[in-house]
Amino acid sequence: MKPHVLVVEDEPSLVEVLRYNLEKAGYRVSVAGDGAEALGGVRDAIPDLIILDWMLPKLSGIEVCRQLREDPESKNVPVIMLTARGEEADRLKGLASGADDYVVKPFSPAELLARVRAVLRRSTSSAPDETLVYRDLTMDLAAHKVSRNGRAVHLGPTEFRLLRVLLKRPGRVFSREQLLDLAWGRDIYLEARTIDVHVRRLRKQLNGPAESDLIRTVRGAGYSLDAGD
Ligand code: CA
Repeated sequence: MKPHVLVVEDEPSLVEVLRYNLEKAGYRVSVAGDGAEALGGVRDAIPDLIILDWMLPKLSGIEVCRQLREDPESKNVPVIMLTARGEEADRLKGLASGADDYVVKPFSPAELLARVRAVLRRSTSSAPDETLVYRDLTMDLAAHKVSRNGRAVHLGPTEFRLLRVLLKRPGRVFSREQLLDLAWGRDIYLEARTIDVHVRRLRKQLNGPAESDLIRTVRGAGYSLDAGD
């Protein structure tokens, strides 16, 4: 799946330049025009990297960055801060708020892309071998293994991705469209009902005869990982 970059910038011409260059370089791009929209967007789908303008309406880039770092869901998402300010004190303030890197406007697309690549490389290579756990369910992302109550659960690649999405945020209800986006990627067109088929398979593998159903169907809304007590 293409790495997802969230661009937070209120200046439409710069947004277009960034979107064009990032998409050409193989990234999937979403855009937020102000800080509040950025925080909302991150809550819906955690991006692989955020390009964050310092000067934004409503919330400043610095404040957005601080809030991202306070939320356990987004605290590890790399942030590149964009700013017109080249002062050393401002640079340090940006980094102190939790930004991973800093690009001063005006910059060339090539320069920004180089930073994007470097930051993404750092964040993926330093990521720990992550294990996701919910109740008696364990998913070892590095080894691509799932177990429940000590019993190995064998999942197909699609069910594995689906479970990973659910396991990252237990209790949260995902709509079918969100699951399609997160587990398949936005560019794939599938009937939302396809999700139901994969959820059924996932349940079958996950839930042993004497075990409770870990997946909750929320009528009219979607699915969540929820043991229901
Ligand atoms: Ca701006």
